[in-house]
Amino acid sequence: MSDVLFPSIESIDDCAPLAERAMQLIRDIFPICRSITGAGVRETLAHVARHVPLQCSEVPSGTPVFDWEVPREWIIRDAFIADSQGRRVVDFRQHNLHVVGYSIPVRARMSLAELRPHLHTLPERPEWIPYRTSYYRDSWGFCLAHRVLQALPEGMYEVVIDSELRAGSLTYAEAYVSGTSESEFLIHTHVCHPSLCNDNASGIAVVAVLAAELAKQRPQLSYRFVFAPGTIGSITWLARNQHQLTRIRAGLIVGLVGDAAPLTYKRSRRGNAEIDHIAAAVVREIDANARVREFSPYGYDERQYCSPGIDLPVGRLTRSPNDEYAEYHTSADNLDLIRPHALAESLLALTRVIERVDSNRLFRSLNPHCEPRLGKRGLFRTVGGGGPAQSEEAMLWLLNQADGSHGLNDVSAASGIPVSVLTEAAAALTAAGLLEETSGRSLPRACVTSEVAAKT
Ligand code: ZN
Repeated sequence: MSDVLFPSIESIDDCAPLAERAMQLIRDIFPICRSITGAGVRETLAHVARHVPLQCSEVPSGTPVFDWEVPREWIIRDAFIADSQGRRVVDFRQHNLHVVGYSIPVRARMSLAELRPHLHTLPERPEWIPYRTSYYRDSWGFCLAHRVLQALPEGMYEVVIDSELRAGSLTYAEAYVSGTSESEFLIHTHVCHPSLCNDNASGIAVVAVLAAELAKQRPQLSYRFVFAPGTIGSITWLARNQHQLTRIRAGLIVGLVGDAAPLTYKRSRRGNAEIDHIAAAVVREIDANARVREFSPYGYDERQYCSPGIDLPVGRLTRSPNDEYAEYHTSADNLDLIRPHALAESLLALTRVIERVDSNRLFRSLNPHCEPRLGKRGLFRTVGGGGPAQSEEAMLWLLNQADGSHGLNDVSAASGIPVSVLTEAAAALTAAGLLEETSGRSLPRACVTSEVAAKT
């Protein structure tokens, strides 16, 4: 079959040039001080736009988005703690993790005892700087290595956070690759972490490189790549796009794809969607140690895409899941943690998942109420006994899954039955009037309720 979307990609080695491009982009964007709003996000997106054309959206502070509101924009110019000799003992210019994200402005002289409640360290990892934010509560603070804190003498310190919280906007960007169908495959990555590498420079870079590569191909589906800040970004995107969510046939949240841990696929809330069948099979065939996790309402932006009123077939691809590696949300999540081989393997998994979803032929059962009688249509072997032969098993699988959102590739992934056998079974069932091929344009369940749409 000539339905291979990425003809030059078959192995991890084939992804090495893409991984090298991703690595370069990671090096470019790693130093930038990102947050959920502000100049760092825009600068990061400008780097991404050198790889793939982006459409950027600015959503004004105060805009209501479902139960939330777009926050004020955070501007950070400088932050430091200086000792009595004026030496900066903690300096934002040395590392952007030193200031708590969204800190309000501060100019004060205070004792170490007064300062302490505003200092965050990791006593069990005394060399590492933790990453902390305070997006939705006005406060301020510094993060520093515990070793540095222990060495600070008692006395008076000058404390400066030269920041601003003002009406501005939240920035997100989309890259769109149109296919022959308006049905969409959505890939979402978060762009709000400062100098942290696996989480989330690796996700930004891998998605950018993937989008650029896909733009050179001729896909069936259309592809939308969303680069947005975590949580508030996906909530904002969903609130502004609720009228067209039914276009989304499959989706993936991508992040934390550069560390040495094995690939991890987290199922969508539905659990058995096309994307779940295919992505689970792909990660397992690439790596025997790959992990497949059930959905849980904790993690990244899958929480929003899989909230009950949205309930899209969107899973998540990571290596280490959030919070499951020692360096997570610390200064040790740096360039040293990233393995080019891991980037290449993540890219292989993504291209393979896309290839299978893109070429998947979807079917709908024309007789979905209980199993149709195959015998009277001459579709069962007349000799009984034993288990069903593979072709009969293929028919049962297809009939069971044929709700308009499943097809040959994902039923093969779920059942282990080769696509060639399923193809023959589909032809026999179609000829018998039991099955019809669908475009997959509309999903069987409403993705967003008209009630929600009417309210906003
Ligand atoms: Zn994170």
